[in-house]
Amino acid sequence: MTSTIRVQSRLPSVGTTIFTVMSRLAADLGAINLSQGFPDFDCDPALVDAVTRHMRAGRNQYAPMQGVLPLREAIAAKYETYHGRRYDPETEVTVTSGGTEAIFDAVAACVHPGDEVIVLEPCYDSYVPAIQLNGGVPVVVTLTYPEYAIDWGAVRAAVTPKTRLLIINSPHNPAGAVLGPADIRELTALVAGSGILIVSDEVYEHIIFDGVQHESMARHAELAARSFIIGSFGKTYHTTGWKVGYAVAPAPLMEELRKVHQFVTFSTHTPVQYALADFLSDRRGLAELSPFFQAKRDLFLRLMEGSRFTPLPSRGSYFQLMDYSAITTEADADFAVRLTKEHGVASIPTSPFLHGSAAPSVLRFCFAKKDDTLERAAERLRKV
Ligand code: GLN
Repeated sequence: MTSTIRVQSRLPSVGTTIFTVMSRLAADLGAINLSQGFPDFDCDPALVDAVTRHMRAGRNQYAPMQGVLPLREAIAAKYETYHGRRYDPETEVTVTSGGTEAIFDAVAACVHPGDEVIVLEPCYDSYVPAIQLNGGVPVVVTLTYPEYAIDWGAVRAAVTPKTRLLIINSPHNPAGAVLGPADIRELTALVAGSGILIVSDEVYEHIIFDGVQHESMARHAELAARSFIIGSFGKTYHTTGWKVGYAVAPAPLMEELRKVHQFVTFSTHTPVQYALADFLSDRRGLAELSPFFQAKRDLFLRLMEGSRFTPLPSRGSYFQLMDYSAITTEADADFAVRLTKEHGVASIPTSPFLHGSAAPSVLRFCFAKKDDTLERAAERLRKV
């Protein structure tokens, strides 16, 4: 349909997300898709059975706005067991339609026009638009390269009286970096005595390697008191298409998040919530997740030996960055497209995660794939 009517864009510099662009390109060209982060294997069939069971039992109408109680209770119990902190399922846990919705809700709940929000780049591509749509001003601090560590001096320098919020992400997408105890000390000192809030994107919380402890904000009283913690069942149960995530936060913060959530999606898919509650209440599958994905990471790294790609450390998430500077000086987005077209493997460039600094010569590969998929992809990548 043709129309001369135009919307004055609220996000003039934003196009379609790189995840949709690269997955679409991979599908169009029949390439192996190691771009968008999702498993190419199925979830536990018992989880599908559980959803079916709850549907047949008639749980097909609106869930309560804050999420069904058994799932909120299971989430609260998980935090108590893993991190020693008790969140009240009535007032401090909310189920959302994916982690991305929870992030948006948290940002919208606390950012007023003109407030500054510190993001550490590369950062997930939804953060900055969420800030901008709510009238906030993104303040970008670049992670060190190639460690993707936080330069705490730079973060301190970025804080002003207008700083409302800091968004952090561990395990980190796209870098696979994780926060350590020294980061927690720095962060605690940074926010002490201030009104700065934290959105902590912990959606890869159960995918962390080499025996390292996930430093959830929930483990640290001073940080938990000011944090919205975001989680995702898509990552934990291999069900990214179900789009169910959650937020936990102290009651006064959660009260504001819920005011947004109830008018963004109102509530989330009911039978899926009950099924997830069945699984999460006995913490089914959680302990296996890190070793399972660590084996995938190690397989992919072994298969890539002898290639001209150089791996960067991946300590968590299901992503592996590869330095391609031995192959070409092309910009990352151009090389990602050429790799898909000419070599049949799709990846994600990091430039869409960057807002100030130049993109290094790295691409992100998702290893949440069948061993056979990783083998076929690596065979192609070894020839590049
Ligand atoms: N989190 C996924 C990734 O980083 C993508 C999710 C999405 O496509 N919105 O690949």
